[in-house]
Amino acid sequence: MKEIFLCSICNVSNGGCKEDCAYCTQSHKYKTGVKIYKEKPLEEIMKEAKYFADVGALGFCLVTSGRSLTSQKTEYISRAAKMIKKEFDFHLIACCGSADKESLKELKSAGVDSYNHNLETSKDFFPKICTTHTWDERYKTCENAASVGLMLCVGGIMGIGESWKDREEFYKAVSSLNPFTSPVNFYIPNTALPIKEDVMGRTEAIECIKLAKSYLPNTRLMMAGGRETVFGSNQKEIFEVGIDAIIIGGYLNAQGDEPTSDIDMIRKYGFDISVVCH
Ligand code: SF4
Repeated sequence: MKEIFLCSICNVSNGGCKEDCAYCTQSHKYKTGVKIYKEKPLEEIMKEAKYFADVGALGFCLVTSGRSLTSQKTEYISRAAKMIKKEFDFHLIACCGSADKESLKELKSAGVDSYNHNLETSKDFFPKICTTHTWDERYKTCENAASVGLMLCVGGIMGIGESWKDREEFYKAVSSLNPFTSPVNFYIPNTALPIKEDVMGRTEAIECIKLAKSYLPNTRLMMAGGRETVFGSNQKEIFEVGIDAIIIGGYLNAQGDEPTSDIDMIRKYGFDISVVCH
């Protein structure tokens, strides 16, 4: 029986980012009203980790806002990683922006298993959604993470005005990195953001997932932001066309459904919840 892997997110720093990614509520350029903080206290991170471990998540991702993994962030994430790994049996992911090999090595030796860094979209379309850093910088970080032995989690966001050709080019690039996991996000409209696209229609979103699976047949395909917004309570088809994992409990600054109701839904559809991370 198909098993669905449950992953969870902890935004250990939030908002106030100097970059201008047009889909992101954390950019300081857009008045999205998200909470701004730099370092969530470690006790709070541990509380969230316990909550997600108890509901059955196997993955836990420490996410920072901002362009890159600075030395201060490396030290902070490493401390958090050591504490989490001592207490919980999570597959631990870090998502901290552009990073060099040295910092990534430090995260790995602190217990981080995977690094998440999204290419977001095609190289050609990227300058239309971000002018403060390049797609190449993102690609290089993914290569850095793989080169130090971190598992890769690389995906992107659709429904931001890109064409089908962009989606094809984007997935070609993602597959060239051979990631272990690939998050699929659909844009959640927000009037404070410059992207004025509507919520993607269900049929188109299903075609996007099929496209992702066709380029990444051996990658764990993870439905991330937009799952509830696009598919509502009728989500069975996403698993049938290729989704192997979901994020539970919400996204960085968007509320998700209750984890227990997601788990009930998955079981009702006839799928199992993964109990081992393989
Ligand atoms: S760099 Fe990251 S946190 Fe900053 S605006 Fe872009 S996506 Fe958001």
